[in-house]
Amino acid sequence: MTLNKRRLKNASLRIRIWEYFIFFTALVFILLWFFQVVFLERFYEGMKIINVKNAAVEIAGHYGEEDYGQLLTQTSLNNDMCIDIVDKYGRVIYSKDILSKSCLLHSPESKRSQFLLKFKNIGKSEIYYKEYNPITNSDILIYTSVIGSVSSPEAFILINSPLVPVGATASIFKQQLLIIIGILLVLSSIISFFMAKNIADPISKITKSAEQMASGNYDIKFEGKGYEEIQRLANTLTYAGRQISKVDAMQRDLIANVSHDLRTPLTMLKAYAEMIRDLSGDNPVKRNQHLEIIIDETDRLALLVNDMLDLSKLEGGDQKLNYSEFNIKELLSDIIVKYKALSGKKDYDISFEPDKDVTVRCDIIKIQQVIYNLINNAINYTGDDKKVFVKQINRSDCVRVEISDTGDGIAADKIKLIFEKYYRSENHKREIVGTGLGLSIVKAILKKHGYNFGVFSSEGKGSTFWFEIKDIVKPENTEEPPKKQHKKINSKKDAKDVVK
Ligand code: ADP
Repeated sequence: MTLNKRRLKNASLRIRIWEYFIFFTALVFILLWFFQVVFLERFYEGMKIINVKNAAVEIAGHYGEEDYGQLLTQTSLNNDMCIDIVDKYGRVIYSKDILSKSCLLHSPESKRSQFLLKFKNIGKSEIYYKEYNPITNSDILIYTSVIGSVSSPEAFILINSPLVPVGATASIFKQQLLIIIGILLVLSSIISFFMAKNIADPISKITKSAEQMASGNYDIKFEGKGYEEIQRLANTLTYAGRQISKVDAMQRDLIANVSHDLRTPLTMLKAYAEMIRDLSGDNPVKRNQHLEIIIDETDRLALLVNDMLDLSKLEGGDQKLNYSEFNIKELLSDIIVKYKALSGKKDYDISFEPDKDVTVRCDIIKIQQVIYNLINNAINYTGDDKKVFVKQINRSDCVRVEISDTGDGIAADKIKLIFEKYYRSENHKREIVGTGLGLSIVKAILKKHGYNFGVFSSEGKGSTFWFEIKDIVKPENTEEPPKKQHKKINSKKDAKDVVK
């Protein structure tokens, strides 16, 4: 579905908020209409009945007390009702007339005895009903109850309370409600407009920034002022932008580096092949020189392709580690001997400072590669004295391997980068055969093993790359290292060096 089609399907935030407001207003209106117009009469009558009943309970409860007359006067005034208390022979004991004879108890044609008779006939402890009052031309609420019990009554309570016609009131409410609903509709439209503006503006801003990001400007800063959620979204997007930007830069570097590293040997291969064809084909000395260069460049290419393959396999995650047990001291000295023999760099001085024999358990081939890469780098970058130091340090929980050189060292701001793929210092010399992948492979292997590793370097003096093999099987004659030295790994200085 295209963006535009989706836009059409989803109403804008403004419309949505307005719809919710209108829905809420309609709901309030319907509720008010039912309570104030439709149910008003029933509501009013129900409340009146509750009032009368409560008054009757109070009157019955205080019957015969000293200031009973006072209580009756107060109750009838408070509740707008006429009250008669009649004894069991039908004689009026108390009579409170506040309706000026306009009730059916105190009007000239009093219906008191009729009410009483009806009550006795029904035989309940209380009854209430509506009757038409011709004097006021409206309904009146008639209530009768007994003091004592129905079988042996002490007295009877007779109450009349006028029921005000609510029809007129309801029609006033109706008109008021229509005005209120009009005002509410206007108000909710205005409020929803401003609310939507407040919510939508930062979102629109973020959308604009996201569009810019989509077109390649990853360094854009997302603004999300207003409320927490939007602020968080903006921060996350800004962070995502930075990350994408890094990946993008790395990808560009990668393409640049790979194409550079592939193109140079390829160009040289072609050039020297042409030279053999056109010039040196008949001159065995020159031809051999040129063929030597072709072989070197082919090696360089093979190295790059191999490193790329190794790294992609390691990073792909489907390569399992092949654990085996071996003596790390022996492995280190073997590698040094073999390196000297195979690399042709016999004039370099690789000194090995071993510790006691110790058996470790890890992937020997991969750890070999780590040591080889680190020694190779140390050789490549060491100083004019051509010295490289390899150290084995046995610790209670690991074997630490350190490979140091006396070269120019690495600037503090570059330390983090050297383990990145394809990173090579800007001023690296072409004669240093390398792919920029050696340390990435080291990192991937050590990470896969779960070993700590790092580098500390001081510019002008040299660098020391280290890693710690944690899987010790048989520490043979390992001396317990002094506590201080062990702590040193976790000291602030070293912690800074830890790359993992
Ligand atoms: P390569 O050595 O093929 O360039 P690496 O991944 O092994 O690639 O190293 C990356 C970068 O780290 C090198 O280009 C170099 O700048 C730096 N580096 C690695 N080892 C050392 C070292 N021992 N001394 C100084 N710089 C080093």
